[in-house]
Amino acid sequence: MPITRLTKPDSKFRLDDVSTDPPDDAAKQEAAERLKKLGDELLELQELMWGARTHSILIVLQGRDAAGKDGAIKNVVGALNPRGVTVSSFGVPTKEEREHDFLWRIHRQAPRAGEFAIFNRSHYEDVLVVRVHDLAPKSLWGERYDHINDFEELLAEHGTIVIKFFLHISKKEQEKRLLEREESPSTAWKLNVNDWKERDHWDEYTEAYDEVFRRCSSKHAPWCIVPADAKWYRNFLVAETVAETMREYRDDWLKTLERNGKAGREELDEYRRSKGGRHKG
Ligand code: AMP
Ligand code: MG
Repeated sequence: MPITRLTKPDSKFRLDDVSTDPPDDAAKQEAAERLKKLGDELLELQELMWGARTHSILIVLQGRDAAGKDGAIKNVVGALNPRGVTVSSFGVPTKEEREHDFLWRIHRQAPRAGEFAIFNRSHYEDVLVVRVHDLAPKSLWGERYDHINDFEELLAEHGTIVIKFFLHISKKEQEKRLLEREESPSTAWKLNVNDWKERDHWDEYTEAYDEVFRRCSSKHAPWCIVPADAKWYRNFLVAETVAETMREYRDDWLKTLERNGKAGREELDEYRRSKGGRHKG
C-alpha cells in the first residue's frame, strides 16, 4: 500500500495536499485479513529484536484531537508481547517538567535495546501547541526543530528505529467523532471543551504541522502521514508500516541470534568438558 513517507526535508510539503480517505483501491475486508497476518508477523519480529538486543523501536503518534491515537496504539500493542512495550502519553508539562529543557521528559522514556516505546504525543507538542498558543517565545521554540533533529539522530545512532505517524483526519470527520462522543455514556468521559477550542485553531495547527514535516523528516526518523478518516485503514496502515520497517532488520537479528546461540553453546560445551564428559541432568 502506498503511504506518504517523508524521508528528507521538503520545504514544499503541504498537509492539505494529502487525502484523509483510504485510496480507492483499498478494500476493508482484505485489509482486515492482512491485519491479522501482520499481527503474527509483528510478534515474531518483536521476539527477534528482543533476543538480538541490537535495536529498539520508537513509535511517535501525533494527530489532532479524536484522530485516533489511542485506537492506533491499542491496535499495534495488542499484537505485541507486552513484556517489551511501554506506552507514554505526554500532556501538559508538570511543574517539574517545565523546570527542565523540553526533551528531558521525552528522553527518559526512550526505549531500551530490544524494546518498543510508543509515544502518545511527544516532543513535537513543543513546536505545535506551544507555537499555536504562544506558550514560549519564538526565539525558544524556533530553535527546537534543530534540537529535535539532533535528538532523533542521536537515538538512531544508538540503534533506535524511529517511526513517526501523523494520523490525518478531516475537519468534518473530527466534528463527527466529537459529537458522537456526547451520545454514549461509554465515550462521554472523553468530552473535553478544549477539543472544540483547539478546533478553532485548525489552520494554525496545519501550518505548524507543515513546518514540522518540512523540517523534521529524515531517513532515520521519517514522518508517515496516515489517512485516518477510516479507522480500519488507519489501523492497517500503521501495522503495515511498522512491520515493513522491522522486516529490513530481520536477517541481521537472525544472524545475531545465531551468533549468540553459538557462543552460548560453546560456553556450555566448555563447561561440560571441564566437568569431564557430558553433564547430564
Ligand atoms: P490529551 O492527549 O487529549 O490527553 O491532551 C493532552 C494535552 O496536553 C493536549 O492538549 C496537548 O496539546 C497538551 N500538551 C502536550 N504536550 C504539551 C506541551 N509540551 N506544552 C503544552 N501542552 C502540551
Ligand atoms: Mg484530547
